[in-house]
Amino acid sequence: MPIDRDRLWARLETLSRITEPDMPWTRRSFTPRFLEGRAWLAEEFRAVGLETTLDAGGNLIGRLPGTEQGLRPILIGSHSDTVPSGGRYDGMLGVLAALEVAQSLIESGRRLRHPLEVIDFLAEEPSEFQGLSCIGSRAMSGALTDEHMELRRADGTSLRDAITYVGGRPDQIASETRAAGSVAAYVEVHIEQGRMLEAEAIPLGIVTDIVGIRRERITVKGRADHAGATPMPLRSDALVGAAKLIERAYEKALATSRDVQPLVATFGKIEIWPNAANAVPGSVVMTLEVRCGSEAAVAAFGEQLLRELAPALADVRVTATAERVSHVAPVACAASIRSAIADAAASCRLAARDLPSGAGHDGVFVSRLGPVGMIFVPCLDGRSHAPEESIEPGQAEDGARALAGTVDLLDERLD
Ligand SMILES: [Zn+2]
Repeated sequence: MPIDRDRLWARLETLSRITEPDMPWTRRSFTPRFLEGRAWLAEEFRAVGLETTLDAGGNLIGRLPGTEQGLRPILIGSHSDTVPSGGRYDGMLGVLAALEVAQSLIESGRRLRHPLEVIDFLAEEPSEFQGLSCIGSRAMSGALTDEHMELRRADGTSLRDAITYVGGRPDQIASETRAAGSVAAYVEVHIEQGRMLEAEAIPLGIVTDIVGIRRERITVKGRADHAGATPMPLRSDALVGAAKLIERAYEKALATSRDVQPLVATFGKIEIWPNAANAVPGSVVMTLEVRCGSEAAVAAFGEQLLRELAPALADVRVTATAERVSHVAPVACAASIRSAIADAAASCRLAARDLPSGAGHDGVFVSRLGPVGMIFVPCLDGRSHAPEESIEPGQAEDGARALAGTVDLLDERLD
């Protein structure tokens, strides 16, 4: 399948320019701007000859029938929403590379054995609904709960109403949920959002697994006292305990990554009481986020951290407890898809290396329906979720070529 680099690049330029003008590059899910991007995309899908529909969960789907009856579809795509002040390629590249592959196939007059579906999943990025992400892929796979549907954003709108706003049909999500095993394969092209490929000058990454993400609320309790009248030996300074936890988490993640497997741990959010210059901090609440390809390592990190540090916390007269906020298990990419990507890369004469995805993706949920795989391309300096996000036309082309080859091989190899 030939890939038209200029056409792919022109589409990336056009879609990225559908942005909030005062805040490039922003196209938040459930906004008029998002619908504007979606309307343009749906028109492009139709123009190349895809049967274009919006499913109950608000996913935009362009379908190309296969030649053999009864085969399950091969899904390719990504998402067209962005974070605030995000980049021009995160998500968009995967949707538009998938569209380019479908168009190339149509123009060649060839048909796959399997049906092919080009998908723009709804709201992959954390939404205004308490940060819920991957809303479309959750809906498709039966992971969008009634509780999720009642989440509300600041203006009081429920997620249920927001899905209706983008053209979805909340009442039909349950009946349209796809069954486990109903998808032959899902392959997504995405920018790496890290620096491994660029550092090694390798054009393609074959994702081994999408890391698990666990968030825990860590509460450190001490005693708020007057900062002038409380001598040092009598203090129970919660922030001093928190500092010990932060430093130990950093060292522990560093050592695990060096000796066992890649793992990252971050305290990215912290609140302190009373938060006054003249008060000894009485309590600290902070969020520990751990990501790793090993579920056991993700699950154990916080508990081990508190256990190991208990004596040191007792020394400064504070205690710490942990409460789970969220836990998404890691997802392994299928060996069958990984080897198809590797073979496709080789036949395009493009070097490729295995690497984990440190970010979450729709594949986490689509994996409930069938085997998933991801192709990464490098992005400049690893920058993503920022206006500086940048790739070259040739890198977009590499991703689309690898996707085309992978789809061809999977169509041959899969039932
Ligand atoms: Zn993305």
